[in-house]
Amino acid sequence: MVTAGDTVAADVLVDGETVAAIGRSLDVTADRIVDASSRYVMPGGIDAHTHLDMPFGGTFSADDFESGTAAAAWGGTTTVVDFAIQDFGESLQAGYERWLAKAAGRAHVDYGFHMIIREVTDQTLTDMDALVRQGVTSFKLFMAYPGVFMLDDASIFRAMQRTSDNGGLIMMHAENGGAIDVLVQRYLREGRTDPVNHALTRPASMEGEATHRAIALARLAGVAVYIVHLSSRDALTAVVEARDRGAPAYAETCPQYLFLSQDDLARPDFEGAKYVCSPPLRPRDHQDDLWKGLVQDDLQIVSTDHCPFDYKDQKVLGRADFSKIPNGLPGIEDRYTVLFDGGVNAGRITLNRFVELVATAPARMFGLYPRKGTIAPGSDADIVIFNPAVERVLSASTHHMRVDYNCFEGMRVRGLPEVVMQRGEVLVEDGRFLGRPGQGGFLPRSAFPS
Ligand SMILES: [Zn+2]
Repeated sequence: MVTAGDTVAADVLVDGETVAAIGRSLDVTADRIVDASSRYVMPGGIDAHTHLDMPFGGTFSADDFESGTAAAAWGGTTTVVDFAIQDFGESLQAGYERWLAKAAGRAHVDYGFHMIIREVTDQTLTDMDALVRQGVTSFKLFMAYPGVFMLDDASIFRAMQRTSDNGGLIMMHAENGGAIDVLVQRYLREGRTDPVNHALTRPASMEGEATHRAIALARLAGVAVYIVHLSSRDALTAVVEARDRGAPAYAETCPQYLFLSQDDLARPDFEGAKYVCSPPLRPRDHQDDLWKGLVQDDLQIVSTDHCPFDYKDQKVLGRADFSKIPNGLPGIEDRYTVLFDGGVNAGRITLNRFVELVATAPARMFGLYPRKGTIAPGSDADIVIFNPAVERVLSASTHHMRVDYNCFEGMRVRGLPEVVMQRGEVLVEDGRFLGRPGQGGFLPRSAFPS
């Protein structure tokens, strides 16, 4: 049994929805015994960054709460924290309730919500307090996507001041959207319309600048800030500098930034569109820095930013204009195994650090610990029995995400979540799916510890 702290040979007794006891040769009569010898028994994964059923540029992400959470379970993830979105002129509460309705009765795994704030008014600030009381304790703000999501510094600062009072946590999409937008318009005028230009118009320096600014604003407000989907050395440097000064700056990265690169965006015949997400995939030499960040805990979490769009009828919306390619990649099913294979098997991180990155740290950061994110007496029995010896090839032809390609297509990995359990109920066992829609419930989360 592996947790963030320990690796021990032990039996795990599950009673109802929770873990009842852990010990060597437990002397109990169980209704059922699952033999996990030669396997790792690890906490179910927590993906703290998903976009299921999300509107983007006139279309919706291809996985909804039913298909996306089933794929999550197949891959060993038993909790997701998705993003509810405020529409312009709308209260946060109304946006939140729309997402509650999308998930209700459909999700296979437990879920919480972060709230995306599109405009900061006096009402918004009051709404933030009310959401924290309802267990929506994190708020995502954007420094990118002018006219769609981008907030100015004053709005960002006001929201940050509010979280210093209400116990919320600000999550930041840190890219300088103003400068990027000017570059995008210039490239399009010059006829540079291929997918690779998505990366060339969103340089790492503009992620570094925004990350630095976000942290400076948070320090002025006296609050913690969490940088989402950190992709580059430039942004990591800003986080490291702040942390070295003792500032509460946190960040996640995603598998695509660890295993894919700008070369994938440059694939010919529009295939690069499959790899369009923001921030963009970076030149390969950024990857070693990100791994170092994971080892040294300057990056605390690996999430997916799962936001799939079909290649054939959604990504093609940008065939003549890269800026119209829906932004996002599929990853919810593969995160657990690709990080195990590329991290633990490759000798980059320890088994315990793996568990911390995919389960324990997200539970702590987002107010779910110790109910989620570990295996301990009293915690939810969200358990993965992982066979590290199984060799397989990732592919759209075998995955369960509802999207027509896999961004890790053809990748050879060693490791398979053979049995996946949520609150004591088996969702996946030996290649069979036993879960049912509605089995997952809403998780109110605790305030950020200050
Ligand atoms: Zn996202």
